[in-house]
Parts: sequence; C-alpha cells; structure tokens
Amino acid sequence: MHIDRRRFIVLSSGALAVSPLARVLAQQQTPAGPPQTPPPVTPVFADVRRNVGIFTARGGTIGYLINKDGVVVVDTQYADTAKLCVDGLKQKASRGPLGIDIVFNTHHHGDHTGGNGVFKADTKKIVAHAKVPELQKMAAASAPATAAPPVFPDATFDKTWTEKAGDETITASYNGPGHTGGDAIIHFERAHVVHMGDLLFHERHPRVDRAAGASIRNWVAILEKTAKDFPADTIFIAGHSRDGVPPAVDRKAVLHFRDYLSAALAFTQKEIARGQAKDAIAAAAALPGFENYQGGGVLTLKGVLENAYDELTAKTP
Ligand SMILES: [Zn+2]
Repeated sequence: MHIDRRRFIVLSSGALAVSPLARVLAQQQTPAGPPQTPPPVTPVFADVRRNVGIFTARGGTIGYLINKDGVVVVDTQYADTAKLCVDGLKQKASRGPLGIDIVFNTHHHGDHTGGNGVFKADTKKIVAHAKVPELQKMAAASAPATAAPPVFPDATFDKTWTEKAGDETITASYNGPGHTGGDAIIHFERAHVVHMGDLLFHERHPRVDRAAGASIRNWVAILEKTAKDFPADTIFIAGHSRDGVPPAVDRKAVLHFRDYLSAALAFTQKEIARGQAKDAIAAAAALPGFENYQGGGVLTLKGVLENAYDELTAKTP
C-alpha cells in the first residue's frame, strides 16, 4: 500500500503539539464518532514519603499507600492505565492477593474514576463524597453510547471518613464545592502527605465544572484552609501538573494556585465593571502573573474565565 509520507509527517507534527492529557480530554468532549485508541503512556511509580507513592500514566494522579498491614489507593484513572497500576502495586506489595483496604475517589470525573471497575476485584470498598454517585450518573447521561458505564462507590460520606491501614491513619474530608460539587482531599496523617485530587492543578489551567456544582470562590477558601490546616512540611499531590513537572508539590504551590484562582476572579470582576462582554473577557491571552500556566484541550484560561464570569454574574451563586 502506498503511504503518503509527506502527509503523515504533517499529521504527526500536528499531533505532537497537543499534550496527551489535552488529547484525552478533547476526546471526552466528543459526543459521537468511533472510539479512539488512547495515546501511548509511560506508567511511572514514584515514592513520596513514608510508604506513600504516586502513579502517573494518563488522567489524574493516583496516590497509594502500601505498608505491611494495609493498602490504600486514591483515584483510579482509566481502565487501561488502572490495570498497569494494579499490576505494579502487586509487584511492590510482593504478597499474594493485593487486598486493597480502601479506594478513595477524590471526585467523579472519568479520569479519576474510570478505573474503578479494574480496582474493584482487589478492593474491599470504594469510598467517595456523597455527591459523587449522582454526578457520575449526570456525566454518564451525556457520555457517548460507546463509553463504559460508571462504577459507583460502595460507600459515601458527607464530611469525613477515617480509615486505619497498619500504622497509618487516612482521613478524607469534604470542604464544600470547588473543582466540582463533590471533591474530597485525602490526608495520610503520619506521612504528612495530602492528595488534593483536582482541587490542585500545578502550573496548568484547571477545569471548573460549574454544571457539577463547582465554585471558584469556595475553591479559593478551600486552598486557603488547606495551606493552614496541615504541617509546614506536608507534600501535596496535584491531580494534574504541567507536562514533565512532577505532581507532588509543597505548600507554596497550593498558595500559588489559590492566587491564580483569586486573580482569575479579580480580573473577571474588573472587566465586568468596565462593561466588557463575556466573550471579550474570556478571550484574554494570559492572566497577568500566571503566564507560565499550560493550556490545552478543555483545560484553558478561556474556560476558567467563562466560569468566573458565570459565577460572578449568577443571581444565586
Ligand atoms: Zn476533575
């Protein structure tokens, strides 16, 4: 078969300009069409501190704890990468059945819960905030017919859920709407590690899921509280970070992201006050002081500013 090499090169270089995450998120937005092959990924396991580690491949960062008496997992990415994660964790645990005591979902988005079905076979229970099941159902209703049905948590909580795993205590807590209406943060108390889910984006424009109950104003308050509540040496795990930048960061990064969201609200408010229309405000090329934030796919400054506009002009916030 003849292959038009010139055309192939053009297509390839075009594809390279878009990050794998952006491509996946763009695919999630496509309402119809044949299922697409996910882009290849490099699964990476990295130690964080005191038996806590992270797994990155495609989708939101997975956190895990393995000690001699227990295994805990935070978020599950997608079915294909979840399999890579489970296989790797089995090797690390170097014991028969993995026996995961608990899987926490930080929130309902498909790149954090899409692997629930894969983890389920090795897991005693999947736990998430009380809003997560209804938000999963809502997201599934607008997903392509070819999408796998959601796998729901086995149990939910309103405010907090605490679990013991060997010599570690893990507490999930809900602090009101942020990135969605059902985000939890997961604290490994003795390790001083906090998995933030998508309440923390590092050097990358976030998604603000207003249809699922997001609130930028309360998100700022959550980040403020988070920076105050945990010990100064705490390591925070971001759901997503700039390509090539590790998602395990310090308190300064949490405050930097708080400042980003505050700046997005302040910028939008100022533009509304001087009579600018939503489209004109959202067309801003950069947010002053945060030019280093990476965009792509559905993660754009435009999306953030549109949501800021809607939130600031809503009759009932
Ligand atoms: Zn998310």
